Amino acid sequence: MSKFFSSRLSSLEAYVPGEQPKDMAYIKLNTNESPFPPAPAVQRALTEDTVAKLRLYCDPEASRLKAALADSFATDASRIFVSNGSDDILNFAFLAFGEGGVAFPDISYGFYEVFARLHGISAEKIPLAEDFSITPKDYFAKGKMVCIANPNAPTGMALSLEEVEAIVKSNPDSVVLIDEAYVDFGGESCAALTKKYKNLLCVGTFSKSRSMAGARLGFAVADEALIADLERVKYSTNPYNVNSLTQLLGVLTLENQAYYTENCQRIIEARAYATKALEALGFSVLPSSANFIFAKSDRIGGEALYLALKARGVLVRHFEKPRIADYNRITVGTLADMQALVAAVKDILSQ
Ligand SMILES: *Cc1c(COP(=O)(O)O)cnc(C)c1O
Repeated sequence: MSKFFSSRLSSLEAYVPGEQPKDMAYIKLNTNESPFPPAPAVQRALTEDTVAKLRLYCDPEASRLKAALADSFATDASRIFVSNGSDDILNFAFLAFGEGGVAFPDISYGFYEVFARLHGISAEKIPLAEDFSITPKDYFAKGKMVCIANPNAPTGMALSLEEVEAIVKSNPDSVVLIDEAYVDFGGESCAALTKKYKNLLCVGTFSKSRSMAGARLGFAVADEALIADLERVKYSTNPYNVNSLTQLLGVLTLENQAYYTENCQRIIEARAYATKALEALGFSVLPSSANFIFAKSDRIGGEALYLALKARGVLVRHFEKPRIADYNRITVGTLADMQALVAAVKDILSQ
């Protein structure tokens, strides 16, 4: 830390992204990316012409992209926000709506705590139940912003739409942010509920089910007034935060929804296979509605398994944290990826 660094930020602990080692070719099951490439039309979009247009600034209003998203959620473009990945939206939302503090589960996406610290917002971490589920009534009438990943990470467990609605309804004077990064793998989206509740901010991403993690595109659906607040923060930060290539790829992605729906189905099938195979090997696997499973072995510790898998060319994510250190979060890839994972686990357990 230099002597110039703001003292307000001196205790900031930055988010640590999943590792991207370059020493060998890994089966990468550690950052919940899609194993499938973008749709063919998306892959073909970057023509010389398109690239030549990079000399111009991109559309700060992202009009075509917002219109396409509005279409897909059967709503108005004034109720859509887009940004440079959904992390960017979380950042803006904490800044815009977190003044009175924020409550989120003690075991959840690590960025919530980072953004709270970054903006000097007091964070209340609400413990998950013994079975790692979220107890909705713990989030009733909080009198502060509430932030929940649904399905939650790294557990993969989901709240029903009724449970989400009960939380939103009981907090009319604070924003309830529902982070739906994994919703397309078996969760229920609250996007339509934003018409009924002015305090609900539904956040989504193109990084997981839409095979575009590297392009950085996130979106939010909410009441117009909440969207206007987010726009105000965005225009005070970087009006051009979704580049023109990403805007174009986003539109084409939405035009090819059937391709992505089919990929989600394949991942759901691979998830069922991996869950069953690991359970047969003595693992406990939490019930997942996401593109990852959270699993612990009855025979080998979490870190030992993570290291042994890595040595065999399979990367998973291990969190050395209370209550979850025995577990690993394993991204669900293709069926072949999951077969390779299970073979590596069998090999490790036979040593
Ligand atoms: C992956 C993830 C995000 C971030 O997605 P980006 O759009 O790539 O920034 C947000 N929330 C959760 C819970 C995630 O797992």
